[in-house]
Amino acid sequence: MFRLHPQLSKFVTTSVARRFSTVGKPIECFSAVAWKPETDFSKPAVSLEKIIVAPPAENEVRIRIDYSTLCGTDLQAAAGKDNEAHFPFVPGHESAGTVESIGPGVTTVKPGDKVIPCYQAQCFADDLSKDQCPRCRGYRKGKTNLCGKVRGFTGAGVMRAGGVRFQGAEGQQELHHFMGISCFSQYTVIHEESAGKIRDDSPLSKAPLLACALPTGFGAVMNTAKVEAGSIVAVFGLGTVGLSIIEACKRVGATRIIAIDTNPEKFERALAWGATDTVNPKEHDGPIQDIIIKMTNGGVDYSFEATGSVDVMRAALECAHIGWGKSVVVGVAAGGAEISTRPFQLVTGRTWTGTAFGGFRGREGVAQLMDDYMDGKFDIDPYITHNVPLRDINEAFRLLRAGESLRTIIWMHEDPPHIGAVPA
Ligand SMILES: [Zn+2]
Ligand SMILES: [Zn+2]
Repeated sequence: MFRLHPQLSKFVTTSVARRFSTVGKPIECFSAVAWKPETDFSKPAVSLEKIIVAPPAENEVRIRIDYSTLCGTDLQAAAGKDNEAHFPFVPGHESAGTVESIGPGVTTVKPGDKVIPCYQAQCFADDLSKDQCPRCRGYRKGKTNLCGKVRGFTGAGVMRAGGVRFQGAEGQQELHHFMGISCFSQYTVIHEESAGKIRDDSPLSKAPLLACALPTGFGAVMNTAKVEAGSIVAVFGLGTVGLSIIEACKRVGATRIIAIDTNPEKFERALAWGATDTVNPKEHDGPIQDIIIKMTNGGVDYSFEATGSVDVMRAALECAHIGWGKSVVVGVAAGGAEISTRPFQLVTGRTWTGTAFGGFRGREGVAQLMDDYMDGKFDIDPYITHNVPLRDINEAFRLLRAGESLRTIIWMHEDPPHIGAVPA
Protein backbone atom coordinates (compact mmCIF):
# COMPACT_ATOMS: atom_id res chain seq x y z
CA MET A 1 0.00 0.00 0.00
CA PHE A 2 1.25 3.47 -0.88
CA ARG A 3 2.04 5.64 2.09
CA LEU A 4 3.24 9.21 2.24
CA HIS A 5 6.29 9.92 4.33
CA PRO A 6 4.90 11.05 7.72
CA GLN A 7 6.38 14.54 7.32
CA LEU A 8 4.93 14.90 3.82
CA SER A 9 1.58 13.50 4.98
CA LYS A 10 1.45 16.12 7.74
CA PHE A 11 2.29 18.85 5.20
CA VAL A 12 -0.47 17.70 2.81
CA THR A 13 -3.07 17.52 5.60
CA THR A 14 -2.33 20.96 7.00
CA SER A 15 -2.12 22.66 3.61
CA VAL A 16 -5.43 21.11 2.54
CA ALA A 17 -6.97 22.18 5.83
CA ARG A 18 -5.61 25.67 5.30
CA ARG A 19 -6.92 25.92 1.74
CA PHE A 20 -10.47 25.05 2.83
CA SER A 21 -10.19 26.74 6.17
CA THR A 22 -12.49 29.59 7.05
CA VAL A 23 -9.98 31.05 9.49
CA GLY A 24 -9.65 34.80 9.09
CA LYS A 25 -12.42 34.93 6.47
CA PRO A 26 -16.08 35.92 6.67
CA ILE A 27 -18.43 32.93 6.79
CA GLU A 28 -21.74 32.91 4.94
CA CYS A 29 -24.29 30.76 6.74
CA PHE A 30 -27.93 30.45 7.72
CA SER A 31 -29.32 32.29 10.72
CA ALA A 32 -32.59 33.29 12.29
CA VAL A 33 -32.99 37.07 12.24
CA ALA A 34 -35.44 39.21 14.20
CA TRP A 35 -36.04 42.27 12.01
CA LYS A 36 -38.83 43.89 14.03
CA PRO A 37 -40.91 43.11 17.11
CA GLU A 38 -43.52 40.48 16.21
CA THR A 39 -46.43 40.40 18.62
CA ASP A 40 -48.82 38.63 16.26
CA PHE A 41 -48.28 35.03 17.33
CA SER A 42 -49.93 33.70 14.19
CA LYS A 43 -46.94 35.04 12.23
CA PRO A 44 -43.38 33.61 12.26
CA ALA A 45 -41.39 34.97 15.21
CA VAL A 46 -38.13 35.19 13.25
CA SER A 47 -37.06 34.89 9.63
CA LEU A 48 -34.46 32.47 8.39
CA GLU A 49 -31.86 33.81 6.01
CA LYS A 50 -28.27 33.90 4.87
CA ILE A 51 -25.99 36.18 6.83
CA ILE A 52 -22.27 36.93 6.86
CA VAL A 53 -20.34 36.35 10.08
CA ALA A 54 -17.08 38.30 10.33
CA PRO A 55 -13.89 36.72 11.72
CA PRO A 56 -13.29 37.22 15.45
CA ALA A 57 -11.50 40.42 16.47
CA GLU A 58 -9.09 40.68 19.40
CA ASN A 59 -10.19 38.61 22.43
CA GLU A 60 -13.13 37.17 20.49
CA VAL A 61 -14.05 33.62 19.55
CA ARG A 62 -15.97 32.43 16.49
CA ILE A 63 -18.09 29.37 17.17
CA ARG A 64 -19.88 26.85 14.99
CA ILE A 65 -23.19 26.46 16.79
CA ASP A 66 -24.19 22.79 16.58
CA TYR A 67 -27.40 22.77 18.64
CA SER A 68 -29.64 25.46 20.11
CA THR A 69 -32.85 25.65 22.06
CA LEU A 70 -35.08 28.47 23.23
CA CYS A 71 -36.83 29.69 26.35
CA GLY A 72 -39.31 32.33 27.43
CA THR A 73 -36.72 35.08 27.19
CA ASP A 74 -36.52 34.48 23.42
CA LEU A 75 -40.30 34.83 23.14
CA GLN A 76 -40.12 38.17 25.00
CA ALA A 77 -37.20 39.36 22.86
CA ALA A 78 -38.85 38.45 19.52
CA ALA A 79 -41.99 40.28 20.66
CA GLY A 80 -39.95 43.42 21.47
CA LYS A 81 -40.51 43.12 25.24
CA ASP A 82 -36.83 42.83 26.12
CA ASN A 83 -35.06 46.18 26.49
CA GLU A 84 -31.77 44.58 25.44
CA ALA A 85 -33.08 43.17 22.16
CA HIS A 86 -31.89 45.77 19.66
CA PHE A 87 -33.57 45.22 16.30
CA PRO A 88 -32.52 43.92 13.88
CA PHE A 89 -30.66 41.21 15.76
CA VAL A 90 -29.54 37.59 15.73
CA PRO A 91 -31.49 35.98 18.60
CA GLY A 92 -30.83 32.92 20.75
CA HIS A 93 -29.03 32.32 24.05
CA GLU A 94 -29.13 28.57 24.76
CA SER A 95 -26.72 26.52 22.67
CA ALA A 96 -23.60 24.44 22.38
CA GLY A 97 -20.97 24.37 19.68
CA THR A 98 -17.36 24.06 18.61
CA VAL A 99 -14.70 26.75 18.43
CA GLU A 100 -14.03 27.46 14.72
CA SER A 101 -11.35 30.12 15.19
CA ILE A 102 -10.01 32.56 17.75
CA GLY A 103 -9.00 36.19 17.56
CA PRO A 104 -5.64 37.61 18.74
CA GLY A 105 -5.08 37.40 22.48
CA VAL A 106 -7.43 34.49 23.17
CA THR A 107 -5.80 31.94 25.50
CA THR A 108 -8.53 29.96 27.25
CA VAL A 109 -10.05 28.15 24.24
CA LYS A 110 -8.67 26.86 20.94
CA PRO A 111 -10.18 25.72 17.62
CA GLY A 112 -11.98 22.39 18.06
CA ASP A 113 -12.87 22.95 21.72
CA LYS A 114 -16.45 22.23 22.71
CA VAL A 115 -18.11 25.23 24.30
CA ILE A 116 -21.34 26.52 25.73
CA PRO A 117 -21.72 30.24 24.93
CA CYS A 118 -22.56 31.91 28.25
CA TYR A 119 -24.85 34.93 28.41
CA GLN A 120 -23.51 35.42 31.90
CA ALA A 121 -19.90 36.18 31.01
CA GLN A 122 -17.08 35.58 33.48
CA CYS A 123 -13.82 37.52 33.55
CA PHE A 124 -10.40 36.03 34.25
CA ALA A 125 -8.19 35.67 37.31
CA ASP A 126 -6.04 38.49 35.99
CA ASP A 127 -9.05 40.86 35.86
CA LEU A 128 -9.97 39.98 39.43
CA SER A 129 -6.47 40.56 40.76
CA LYS A 130 -6.36 43.96 39.05
CA ASP A 131 -9.94 44.88 40.00
CA GLN A 132 -10.63 45.55 36.31
CA CYS A 133 -14.25 44.48 36.23
CA PRO A 134 -17.00 46.78 37.52
CA ARG A 135 -18.38 44.12 39.86
CA CYS A 136 -15.20 42.30 40.76
CA ARG A 137 -15.28 43.52 44.36
CA GLY A 138 -18.31 41.35 45.03
CA TYR A 139 -17.19 38.65 42.61
CA ARG A 140 -13.94 37.98 44.44
CA LYS A 141 -15.81 37.47 47.71
CA GLY A 142 -18.30 35.12 46.11
CA LYS A 143 -21.16 37.57 46.67
CA THR A 144 -22.34 37.55 43.05
CA ASN A 145 -22.04 35.70 39.75
CA LEU A 146 -22.81 38.81 37.74
CA CYS A 147 -19.46 39.67 36.18
CA GLY A 148 -19.70 43.14 34.66
CA LYS A 149 -16.68 43.12 32.38
CA VAL A 150 -18.46 42.92 29.01
CA ARG A 151 -21.99 43.55 30.27
CA GLY A 152 -22.20 47.10 28.89
CA PHE A 153 -21.47 45.80 25.39
CA THR A 154 -23.60 42.64 25.45
CA GLY A 155 -26.56 44.65 26.75
CA ALA A 156 -26.15 47.10 23.87
CA GLY A 157 -25.92 44.33 21.25
CA VAL A 158 -22.35 45.15 20.18
CA MET A 159 -18.83 43.81 20.73
CA ARG A 160 -16.24 45.40 23.03
CA ALA A 161 -13.74 45.74 20.16
CA GLY A 162 -16.34 47.83 18.35
CA GLY A 163 -19.35 47.24 16.13
CA VAL A 164 -21.05 43.97 15.28
CA ARG A 165 -19.90 40.76 13.52
CA PHE A 166 -23.13 40.00 11.64
CA GLN A 167 -24.58 41.43 8.47
CA GLY A 168 -27.24 40.36 6.01
CA ALA A 169 -25.84 38.45 3.02
CA GLU A 170 -27.90 40.64 0.68
CA GLY A 171 -27.36 44.32 1.14
CA GLN A 172 -25.06 45.56 3.84
CA GLN A 173 -27.42 45.84 6.81
CA GLU A 174 -25.71 45.13 10.10
CA LEU A 175 -27.38 42.91 12.70
CA HIS A 176 -27.00 43.32 16.46
CA HIS A 177 -25.83 40.62 18.83
CA PHE A 178 -28.19 39.38 21.55
CA MET A 179 -27.17 38.62 25.15
CA GLY A 180 -23.59 38.55 23.88
CA ILE A 181 -24.00 35.16 22.19
CA SER A 182 -26.63 35.11 19.36
CA CYS A 183 -26.84 31.37 18.90
CA PHE A 184 -29.66 31.01 16.36
CA SER A 185 -26.97 31.45 13.69
CA GLN A 186 -24.90 28.53 12.38
CA TYR A 187 -21.83 30.60 13.32
CA THR A 188 -21.50 33.31 15.93
CA VAL A 189 -18.81 35.52 17.44
CA ILE A 190 -18.61 36.02 21.21
CA HIS A 191 -16.23 37.57 23.74
CA GLU A 192 -13.71 35.13 25.22
CA GLU A 193 -15.32 35.89 28.61
CA SER A 194 -18.50 34.22 27.29
CA ALA A 195 -16.88 31.02 25.99
CA GLY A 196 -17.57 28.25 28.50
CA LYS A 197 -15.28 25.35 27.59
CA ILE A 198 -16.79 21.94 28.34
CA ARG A 199 -15.06 18.54 28.32
CA ASP A 200 -14.24 16.85 25.01
CA ASP A 201 -16.68 13.98 25.55
CA SER A 202 -19.65 16.32 26.21
CA PRO A 203 -22.79 15.41 24.25
CA LEU A 204 -23.40 18.68 22.37
CA SER A 205 -27.02 17.84 21.50
CA LYS A 206 -27.91 17.89 25.21
CA ALA A 207 -25.56 20.67 26.32
CA PRO A 208 -27.88 23.61 25.40
CA LEU A 209 -29.96 22.73 28.47
CA LEU A 210 -26.95 23.77 30.56
CA ALA A 211 -26.82 27.21 28.93
CA CYS A 212 -29.80 28.62 30.82
CA ALA A 213 -32.74 26.48 31.94
CA LEU A 214 -31.27 23.83 34.23
CA PRO A 215 -28.62 26.02 35.90
CA THR A 216 -31.31 28.63 36.55
CA GLY A 217 -33.68 26.19 38.25
CA PHE A 218 -31.09 24.09 40.08
CA GLY A 219 -29.16 27.18 41.20
CA ALA A 220 -32.27 29.02 42.42
CA VAL A 221 -32.81 26.16 44.86
CA MET A 222 -29.24 25.30 45.80
CA ASN A 223 -27.32 28.59 45.48
CA THR A 224 -29.91 31.30 46.02
CA ALA A 225 -32.59 29.92 48.37
CA LYS A 226 -30.38 27.17 49.85
CA VAL A 227 -33.42 24.98 50.52
CA GLU A 228 -32.87 22.52 53.38
CA ALA A 229 -34.18 18.99 53.85
CA GLY A 230 -37.67 18.97 55.32
CA SER A 231 -38.73 22.27 53.72
CA ILE A 232 -42.15 23.12 52.34
CA VAL A 233 -41.88 24.86 48.96
CA ALA A 234 -44.17 26.36 46.32
CA VAL A 235 -43.21 26.51 42.64
CA PHE A 236 -45.17 28.87 40.38
CA GLY A 237 -44.95 27.99 36.68
CA LEU A 238 -44.30 24.48 35.43
CA GLY A 239 -42.21 24.99 32.31
CA THR A 240 -38.66 23.67 32.05
CA VAL A 241 -37.31 26.01 34.73
CA GLY A 242 -40.19 25.28 37.13
CA LEU A 243 -39.65 21.54 36.68
CA SER A 244 -35.91 21.88 37.27
CA ILE A 245 -36.74 23.76 40.50
CA ILE A 246 -38.97 20.86 41.54
CA GLU A 247 -36.22 18.38 40.68
CA ALA A 248 -33.68 20.27 42.77
CA CYS A 249 -36.09 20.67 45.72
CA LYS A 250 -36.69 16.94 45.69
CA ARG A 251 -32.96 16.29 45.50
CA VAL A 252 -32.22 18.42 48.58
CA GLY A 253 -35.01 16.68 50.53
CA ALA A 254 -37.94 19.12 50.54
CA THR A 255 -40.86 17.16 51.98
CA ARG A 256 -43.71 19.09 50.43
CA ILE A 257 -43.50 20.58 46.94
CA ILE A 258 -46.59 22.47 45.78
CA ALA A 259 -46.71 22.93 41.99
CA ILE A 260 -48.86 25.78 40.71
CA ASP A 261 -49.94 26.50 37.12
CA THR A 262 -53.05 27.66 35.29
CA ASN A 263 -52.57 24.89 32.72
CA PRO A 264 -53.60 21.60 34.37
CA GLU A 265 -52.01 19.63 31.54
CA LYS A 266 -48.68 20.42 33.18
CA PHE A 267 -49.55 18.67 36.46
CA GLU A 268 -48.76 15.13 35.33
CA ARG A 269 -45.17 16.05 34.60
CA ALA A 270 -44.84 18.08 37.82
CA LEU A 271 -45.95 15.06 39.86
CA ALA A 272 -43.58 12.79 37.95
CA TRP A 273 -40.74 15.25 38.69
CA GLY A 274 -41.43 15.17 42.45
CA ALA A 275 -44.27 17.60 43.24
CA THR A 276 -46.47 16.42 46.11
CA ASP A 277 -49.44 18.75 45.45
CA THR A 278 -50.78 20.59 42.41
CA VAL A 279 -52.86 23.76 42.45
CA ASN A 280 -54.67 25.46 39.58
CA PRO A 281 -55.44 29.08 40.58
CA LYS A 282 -58.34 29.08 38.11
CA GLU A 283 -60.14 26.51 40.25
CA HIS A 284 -60.13 28.76 43.32
CA ASP A 285 -61.85 31.98 44.24
CA GLY A 286 -59.64 34.60 45.88
CA PRO A 287 -55.90 35.18 45.75
CA ILE A 288 -53.78 32.08 45.23
CA GLN A 289 -51.45 33.13 48.07
CA ASP A 290 -54.34 32.71 50.54
CA ILE A 291 -55.00 29.19 49.25
CA ILE A 292 -51.34 28.22 49.68
CA ILE A 293 -51.20 29.74 53.18
CA LYS A 294 -54.25 27.69 54.17
CA MET A 295 -52.80 24.51 52.67
CA THR A 296 -49.55 24.90 54.61
CA ASN A 297 -50.71 26.20 57.97
CA GLY A 298 -49.22 29.66 57.54
CA GLY A 299 -47.17 29.64 54.35
CA VAL A 300 -44.23 27.97 52.68
CA ASP A 301 -40.57 28.07 53.68
CA TYR A 302 -39.50 28.86 50.12
CA SER A 303 -41.37 29.96 47.02
CA PHE A 304 -40.12 30.22 43.45
CA GLU A 305 -41.65 32.27 40.65
CA ALA A 306 -40.85 30.92 37.18
CA THR A 307 -43.40 32.62 34.94
CA GLY A 308 -42.13 36.19 34.46
CA SER A 309 -45.49 37.64 35.57
CA VAL A 310 -45.24 40.40 38.17
CA ASP A 311 -48.62 39.43 39.65
CA VAL A 312 -47.35 35.89 40.17
CA MET A 313 -44.18 37.30 41.75
CA ARG A 314 -46.35 39.08 44.31
CA ALA A 315 -48.38 35.95 45.02
CA ALA A 316 -45.17 33.95 45.45
CA LEU A 317 -43.82 36.43 48.01
CA GLU A 318 -47.07 36.63 49.92
CA CYS A 319 -47.46 32.86 50.29
CA ALA A 320 -44.06 32.69 52.02
CA HIS A 321 -44.35 32.15 55.78
CA ILE A 322 -44.36 35.20 58.01
CA GLY A 323 -41.10 35.52 59.92
CA TRP A 324 -38.81 33.45 57.70
CA GLY A 325 -40.30 32.62 54.30
CA LYS A 326 -38.06 33.37 51.34
CA SER A 327 -39.29 34.02 47.80
CA VAL A 328 -37.05 33.83 44.76
CA VAL A 329 -37.88 35.64 41.51
CA VAL A 330 -36.60 33.43 38.70
CA GLY A 331 -38.75 34.38 35.69
CA VAL A 332 -37.79 37.33 33.51
CA ALA A 333 -40.53 39.95 33.37
CA ALA A 334 -41.26 42.14 30.35
CA GLY A 335 -39.03 45.24 30.06
CA GLY A 336 -40.40 48.11 32.15
CA ALA A 337 -42.60 45.91 34.37
CA GLU A 338 -42.58 46.62 38.13
CA ILE A 339 -43.35 44.54 41.21
CA SER A 340 -45.36 45.63 44.21
CA THR A 341 -46.47 44.41 47.62
CA ARG A 342 -47.24 45.98 50.98
CA PRO A 343 -44.07 46.77 52.97
CA PHE A 344 -45.69 44.90 55.87
CA GLN A 345 -44.87 41.69 54.00
CA LEU A 346 -41.14 42.41 54.33
CA VAL A 347 -41.18 44.08 57.76
CA THR A 348 -42.60 40.87 59.11
CA GLY A 349 -39.60 38.87 58.00
CA ARG A 350 -40.21 37.58 54.52
CA THR A 351 -37.27 37.84 52.12
CA TRP A 352 -37.74 38.75 48.47
CA THR A 353 -34.77 37.94 46.27
CA GLY A 354 -33.91 36.86 42.76
CA THR A 355 -31.43 34.91 40.73
CA ALA A 356 -29.78 35.15 37.33
CA PHE A 357 -28.27 31.98 35.88
CA GLY A 358 -28.98 30.39 39.26
CA GLY A 359 -26.09 32.19 40.89
CA PHE A 360 -23.59 30.08 38.92
CA ARG A 361 -20.53 31.78 37.48
CA GLY A 362 -20.70 31.57 33.68
CA ARG A 363 -17.68 29.68 32.33
CA GLU A 364 -16.92 27.76 35.53
CA GLY A 365 -20.58 26.96 36.02
CA VAL A 366 -21.22 25.28 32.69
CA ALA A 367 -18.03 23.22 32.95
CA GLN A 368 -18.98 22.02 36.46
CA LEU A 369 -22.57 21.26 35.46
CA MET A 370 -21.38 19.22 32.48
CA ASP A 371 -19.05 17.25 34.78
CA ASP A 372 -21.97 16.64 37.15
CA TYR A 373 -24.16 15.49 34.26
CA MET A 374 -21.44 13.14 32.96
CA ASP A 375 -21.08 11.79 36.53
CA GLY A 376 -24.79 10.90 36.46
CA LYS A 377 -25.90 13.44 39.08
CA PHE A 378 -28.90 14.50 36.99
CA ASP A 379 -30.54 13.72 33.66
CA ILE A 380 -31.18 16.05 30.73
CA ASP A 381 -33.28 13.88 28.39
CA PRO A 382 -36.60 14.32 30.24
CA TYR A 383 -36.46 18.05 29.51
CA ILE A 384 -36.05 17.56 25.74
CA THR A 385 -39.48 17.02 24.21
CA HIS A 386 -38.94 17.95 20.55
CA ASN A 387 -36.28 18.17 17.83
CA VAL A 388 -36.44 20.39 14.75
CA PRO A 389 -33.96 21.40 12.03
CA LEU A 390 -32.98 25.09 11.88
CA ARG A 391 -35.40 25.72 8.97
CA ASP A 392 -38.28 24.88 11.36
CA ILE A 393 -37.17 27.23 14.15
CA ASN A 394 -40.52 29.02 14.12
CA GLU A 395 -42.15 25.71 15.04
CA ALA A 396 -39.99 25.72 18.19
CA PHE A 397 -41.36 29.20 19.01
CA ARG A 398 -44.93 28.00 18.41
CA LEU A 399 -44.54 24.92 20.61
CA LEU A 400 -43.15 26.97 23.49
CA ARG A 401 -45.79 29.70 23.22
CA ALA A 402 -48.51 27.05 23.21
CA GLY A 403 -47.01 25.38 26.27
CA GLU A 404 -46.70 22.14 24.28
CA SER A 405 -42.94 21.72 24.67
CA LEU A 406 -40.32 21.85 27.35
CA ARG A 407 -37.12 22.28 25.37
CA THR A 408 -37.00 21.82 21.59
CA ILE A 409 -33.49 21.12 20.32
CA ILE A 410 -32.80 23.01 17.11
CA TRP A 411 -30.35 21.11 14.92
CA MET A 412 -28.32 23.88 13.31
CA HIS A 413 -26.55 22.01 10.49
CA GLU A 414 -28.41 18.77 9.83
CA ASP A 415 -31.77 17.14 10.22
CA PRO A 416 -32.50 15.39 13.51
CA PRO A 417 -33.26 11.66 13.30
CA HIS A 418 -36.82 12.41 14.45
CA ILE A 419 -38.39 15.74 13.56
CA GLY A 420 -41.02 16.95 16.02
CA ALA A 421 -41.93 15.30 19.30
CA VAL A 422 -39.38 12.91 20.75
CA PRO A 423 -40.75 9.40 20.27
CA ALA A 424 -41.87 7.78 23.53
ZN1 LIG B 1 -33.07 31.01 28.61
ZN1 LIG C 1 -15.62 40.30 36.33
